[in-house]
Amino acid sequence: MAAKLARIGIAGPRDLLFHLPFRYQDRTRIARIGELELGQDAVVLGQVELADIEYRRRRSLLVIVSDQTSSMILRFFHFSAAQQRAFQRGAWIKCYGEVRQGRQSWEMVHPEYRLYSERPPDAAEAALTPVYPGTEGVSAGLLRKLVAQVLDNELGDLRECLPATVREKFQLPPIQDALQTVHRPPPDADTEALLAGTHPAQRRLATEELLAHHLALSRFRQKHKTRRAPVFNGGGDGAGTVNAGRAGTVTTGGDTVNAGATVTAGGDSWRKLQTQLGFQLTAAQRRVIGEVLADLQTAAPAMRLIQGDVGCGKTVVAAAAALRAIDSGYQAALMAPTELLSEQHRRTFGDWFAPLNLSVEWLGGRMPAAARAQALRRIACGDAQLVIGTHALFQEKVAFHRLGLLIIDEQHRFGVDQRLALRNKAGGDGGDSTGGNSESTVARHAPHQLIMSATPIPRSLAMIFYADLDISNIDQMPPGRKPVQTVALPNSRRADVAQRIRRVCRDRQQAYWVCPLIEESDKLQAQAATETFDALTAQLPELRIELIHGRMKSADKEAIMRRFHGGDIDLLVATTVIEVGVDVPAASLMIIENAERLGLAQLHQLRGRVGRGAQQAACVLMYQPPLGANAKQRLGILRDTGDGFVIAGKDLELRGPGELLGTKQTGLQQMKVADLARDRALLPTIEAIAKALRAHADGAAAADAIIRRWVSARESYAEV
Ligand code: ADP
Ligand code: MG
Repeated sequence: MAAKLARIGIAGPRDLLFHLPFRYQDRTRIARIGELELGQDAVVLGQVELADIEYRRRRSLLVIVSDQTSSMILRFFHFSAAQQRAFQRGAWIKCYGEVRQGRQSWEMVHPEYRLYSERPPDAAEAALTPVYPGTEGVSAGLLRKLVAQVLDNELGDLRECLPATVREKFQLPPIQDALQTVHRPPPDADTEALLAGTHPAQRRLATEELLAHHLALSRFRQKHKTRRAPVFNGGGDGAGTVNAGRAGTVTTGGDTVNAGATVTAGGDSWRKLQTQLGFQLTAAQRRVIGEVLADLQTAAPAMRLIQGDVGCGKTVVAAAAALRAIDSGYQAALMAPTELLSEQHRRTFGDWFAPLNLSVEWLGGRMPAAARAQALRRIACGDAQLVIGTHALFQEKVAFHRLGLLIIDEQHRFGVDQRLALRNKAGGDGGDSTGGNSESTVARHAPHQLIMSATPIPRSLAMIFYADLDISNIDQMPPGRKPVQTVALPNSRRADVAQRIRRVCRDRQQAYWVCPLIEESDKLQAQAATETFDALTAQLPELRIELIHGRMKSADKEAIMRRFHGGDIDLLVATTVIEVGVDVPAASLMIIENAERLGLAQLHQLRGRVGRGAQQAACVLMYQPPLGANAKQRLGILRDTGDGFVIAGKDLELRGPGELLGTKQTGLQQMKVADLARDRALLPTIEAIAKALRAHADGAAAADAIIRRWVSARESYAEV
């Protein structure tokens, strides 16, 4: 039994106290059969009219039950002879189950029931019946019994973690009352609220759980800040100062890393780059670059999230940071979520850094072995100053000579767990990624980290899930951008769309045609895109059309993107591989097929691939009618707004935070009571409570206890 319970995270009696019902059955009212509604879970009290075996496809026992209002059928597929005999005509029966549509009348299949020889008192249960998340081999009844036991024996000893003043201020009931109410709702409890999950007792628990996550991440951040990162003063004499923390201050000449490369006078590559960019930075970019460079000047490792809508110009911020690291004698690494994007960065940074005489190294998935070995050597000896790749950079054993800065681009689909795993890998005490260096004090450095995301997360959510990060927002677009004109068209208008592509390409502009499939299969996506490609090639013979998808060789993808970038391709048929980051300013038309199947954030990302140049851009969302209400709403929102913050907010409303934060790895599903869609209103108070707690004399101890109670056993970030 212990082993079975351990599977659902129950290691002792305490854990049972916090094994909370995920819903309730309402057996507090006896329903009349004549008033039942389909799908309702109901208690019915009646008398047996008839019990008989029906031989249809499957043999089943039918019991007809009636009360004064009507009759219904109870159906059993598994039953014993004794059970059948017990259903005597005229016997009284109280049963509980879901009302379904049967062939002749409404039915309950395998209801819970009890028989009585005489009419039992009309009374239903006094209170709601909790339903617990179970596991195989532990029946619902047994779980209920175990919980009841610990409520009687353990609840009285459970410690209140929140100081009374804090509880009063935020109107939170005591923990013991809250647990008692949730496990054993008293008859006079607000049934509606309990069923909806909004009862003060449930809110108290959800608040504490959210608070626990916030506190754990905040603590993680504090702990992280006590590690030592190199201090990048930039400028100056071109040599960086390394603050080796515990080991004292070590000064390393930039020349060890920059051997062979010319460090510009004053080490001010960033100033040089700005003169070559061909555009003025926006005020928002300048502000955020200032925030980042300030981070890099301190010995606490930066851990900063840079949020900014698609196309706001995050890449150049990354460049400013990377140059500061390189000028200080360190290496920088840039990780992208897709190989395609890493290839684009390789192009961009190659173009930017070559005139500065800085070396950019790229690591791809399918590189020839010799080229790869050479790249790895250059990274290990420090000849490679900026290293670009996908997440494989950290999954494999890539040894850096002296990694000082790690930039992660387009990280909006990564959750807490992944972020923390990466951080632990990327450095800190004895991390092997910075290894390969005999100078142990340097090897122990944690690199500074920047995370860039194009899906701006509403602040209230960020407070919980990004509490380990500093956040900068680039809340301004480069000047001259016109909003992308967006229309939604049914598939029947395909011919018009082709006509439109023809027009756009005649004006020497370019177009994307994206064929997303709901399946997460590269192969099926590639297939669908290939079919569309063939059809469009036949339909638009005068255009230069190419196809790109995730199953192609890296070199082929790279070649196609280069040609598209150079204007040698008119129409690029693609899968969602182009979803993130791809930047081709002359592309002004985006067609998205099956748009009704995609989420808001994803559509917004795809649309963001156009409208990066000066010309008016357009996006056509093609769909297969009829549209569901939700899809209609999504396409409508997209048509009406181009603001990523607004769209993220709507996405949160429509689909909950799981989609926005990335469903799988957020740690969201590990929440026991909190439901972010339902408990959204609680979010803003969490930070206030954390603050109140910090101000309280016993705050630190309280925080400890809360983290231990809600997250410690299950999440790596509590192990700090
Ligand atoms: P994202 O934030 O989506 O990563 P990028 O960094 O790819 O955006 O920038 C989008 C495009 O805008 C690029 O072509 C880039 O060169 C250009 N850009 C960036 N900043 C500015 C600016 N301040 N003025 C004009 N163009 C800019
Ligand atoms: Mg980008």
